Amino acid sequence: MGTAYLVGAGPGDPKLITRRGAELLRRADVVLHDALVGQGLLELANPAAEMIDVGRRAGESRWLNQGRINRLLVTLTRKHAIVVRLKGGDPLVFGRGGEEALALVNAGVPFEVVPGVTAGVGALASAGIPLTHRRLSTSVVFVTAHDREDLESEQEWRHLAGLGGTVVIYMGGGRIREVTERLIRLGRSPDTLAAVVESGTLPNQRVVEAKLGELAERAGVITGPALIVIGEVTRLRGQLAWLESGPLTGRSVLVARARSQRSRIVHLLSELGASVIQFPTIRSLPAPDAVLVPAAVQGLAGNGVIVFTGAAAVSGFLQALAQEGLDARAIAGLSLVAVGRETIAALRRARLKCDLPIRSYLPIQVAAALRRGRGHLEAQPILLIRDGGGRSALGDGLEAAGARVTQLQVATRTVDSRGRKNVERMMAAGQLDAIVLPSSSAAEALVAGGLVVPSGALVMAMGPTTAAAAERLGLPAAAIPDASGVDALVEELVARLTTPGTIDPSVGTWLTSASLD
Ligand code: SAH
Repeated sequence: MGTAYLVGAGPGDPKLITRRGAELLRRADVVLHDALVGQGLLELANPAAEMIDVGRRAGESRWLNQGRINRLLVTLTRKHAIVVRLKGGDPLVFGRGGEEALALVNAGVPFEVVPGVTAGVGALASAGIPLTHRRLSTSVVFVTAHDREDLESEQEWRHLAGLGGTVVIYMGGGRIREVTERLIRLGRSPDTLAAVVESGTLPNQRVVEAKLGELAERAGVITGPALIVIGEVTRLRGQLAWLESGPLTGRSVLVARARSQRSRIVHLLSELGASVIQFPTIRSLPAPDAVLVPAAVQGLAGNGVIVFTGAAAVSGFLQALAQEGLDARAIAGLSLVAVGRETIAALRRARLKCDLPIRSYLPIQVAAALRRGRGHLEAQPILLIRDGGGRSALGDGLEAAGARVTQLQVATRTVDSRGRKNVERMMAAGQLDAIVLPSSSAAEALVAGGLVVPSGALVMAMGPTTAAAAERLGLPAAAIPDASGVDALVEELVARLTTPGTIDPSVGTWLTSASLD
């Protein structure tokens, strides 16, 4: 028997989950998630975990009712150690998390609740609406716009209408007219300031402010999850709206990747307000050579060089030592060389001193740097530790320079494309504005992940080599920035997405028109 964890996913932006929630996702055997939980969070999950979507989605017939979700949760927790029930916002706020917890108690299944940022708090924060303010409102009510029409419900709403303060209404997007009319009929002034926050904290966040009497009219059609907020505090948004300020706010960009690390491109795009989806997910797994690591290290007999290429090479190497009960002391006296920025960072994270950091991956430059660092390369014993990045040319280069090279590939990379359906759904809904290919291997990974990129999509390649590789892979017209730096690429992307006329003005529809079956 395991434990069921009712985990709050936060209001939408994947970064707003708690650390405990993220940790449990990484360790989960099974994840049962709602439809509203986005790809960014599912990506965090343990690659071996079984992912079950129990969410209800408009237009889809296949969904589980609450009773079946409860039973499934119980059955799965009897079979697996860590079962994560990932729920939008906070699990115990209007999410029927309480019912799920009761079902677990009744079945005698152990559980833990991991709170999350509820939409009423998270979405309002990103809309720039404080829930309270010393002079404008000293109370908040969270209420659901259920459609019970009985007397008791009428009394509750009369009470609500008379309350003053801030009222936050969940699940009212589809009934905004009834909800606002009812509150006015029961006594709240039609002149009260109010707002609708749709898809709060997400790239397509939309906020409409109006007097209560005009809110339904002004809000128009609401398609995403939405909150109705009533109260004077909504006026502060005029000064406090902060989210919609980046040049890429409201834009979604897919960054293909061939490495498991987060990249600078992702960081830059996020800082500019874009919502970044990374696809596919790359995992590092131990490779067969890993078992040879302890013997190879002993073979160096405390004298020689270990060259690491790839961050996963560093972690794979240390894991291989640990398997034999060894730690960093086993490499005392050896020179550690890191090739590439990520590798240098990985050594630093592992608290190992890097004797020679080499930024370039080019064999000639690596050999030259080593020669400078060691005096000569002739008959130098070098243990080359690689991950699955396909950089074996480096070993040949070093051997050609005279070194005695032992190569071990301690990790392999696998492409995990489980997020594909989600990404394709976003494409079909016109919610993806561009695709960035940072490298040839990232382009290959994208194709290996099985994603069908419709023609007409805005695809940006990093430099001409990547563009050519993309072309060979059959990806539609890659736009190449002249200067092939990350900043140049990001700048170009901003220009293309923000200058009217460079792309179809109905941004997003370029993907909708294509068939995705
Ligand atoms: N447990 C969730 C609420 C589930 S009920 C929580 O704590 O947030 C679902 C309702 O939450 C939606 O109908 C909507 O009113 C609200 N909601 C969820 N995500 C939202 C978002 N990103 N923006 C605005 N409202 C949201």
